[in-house]
Amino acid sequence: MLTEDVRIGLFKISNPLLGEVIENRRLTALSRGARSDARHLVFRCEKPYPCLPGQSAGILPPGMDPRTSRPHAPRLYSVASPTGGEDGKNLLVSLCVVRHFWDNPKTNERGIPGAASCYLCNLKAGDIVRITGPLGRHFILPSDYQERDLVFVATGTGIAPFRGMLKDIFRAGYSKRVWLIFGAQHADCLLYGDEFQALSQKYSNLVYLKAISREEINPCPAEVPTRENRMYVQVRMHENRSRLLEILSDEKAMIYLCGLKGMEAGIFPVLDGIGKELGKNSFSGALQAGGRLRVEVY
Ligand code: NAP
Repeated sequence: MLTEDVRIGLFKISNPLLGEVIENRRLTALSRGARSDARHLVFRCEKPYPCLPGQSAGILPPGMDPRTSRPHAPRLYSVASPTGGEDGKNLLVSLCVVRHFWDNPKTNERGIPGAASCYLCNLKAGDIVRITGPLGRHFILPSDYQERDLVFVATGTGIAPFRGMLKDIFRAGYSKRVWLIFGAQHADCLLYGDEFQALSQKYSNLVYLKAISREEINPCPAEVPTRENRMYVQVRMHENRSRLLEILSDEKAMIYLCGLKGMEAGIFPVLDGIGKELGKNSFSGALQAGGRLRVEVY
């Protein structure tokens, strides 16, 4: 599908789509507590909701926002389902959501539960949610992706779009190389880990690498500094720089980053280091300018 054909804004705040919760499954170990409570949520929509991996769905939490005394604005979540949804008919849409907690510097209140993410994580089967969107065009795969090697880098719930994309590309018989590099705090918080493991066993052109920040140590902190020498996705990239160099030296190869705001600041220098080997300055900038580096961070 061409980018200009991608549909956006089909459902507005004034006329949202209703979706019934049919699944709300915790993806991380219960013992990790509320702050690592990431969920796979599936909604059965009353009408088709045509969205692509890389797009976002808006969720309207019920009630009023105490900060504005107005109804809550929609919150955007990346779609985790493949093209056509989980059912192929655009009726079953899934999201990957983690409980968010925030601090209010004005009141010094800390650890305030996020209104939308906690609403979503608490939903029960049969509950009805109000959905807007879909939104976003820049993070979808290009129509000619079958001719391109792909590198996907995710932290935490930023994995959502890559789950759908991987389902899409393998269903379509993708034969180029695809790398998925995923960062999580603990091995029992690897979102959709079983799905990716199974895919990488089935498809030899998928390389699945994990960076477990609180259980593995960064072996090269001088070259790739990380907080408390934790193992981050950018360290995995640096360790595999010669293979990534080979992949990214192809002018068609693309790299997608999704997850925590700030991850790009650690990844760009690694990409720039790879670019130097190719005789290019500011490789990350050149990749972005050429539309080959896509970033979705919140
Ligand atoms: P998280 O568990 O807090 O973090 C995931 C991993 O990233 C951890 O291993 C963490 O390490 C590591 N990390 C922290 N800072 C990093 C950095 N600067 N560079 C590289 N890795 C770093 O993640 P989360 O709670 O799931 O949050 C993910 C973020 O993605 C949220 O901000 C969310 O809004 C955003 N997002 C979500 C979606 C969606 O649809 N759900 C889509 C796009 C983006 P340590 O904690 O051990 O330092």
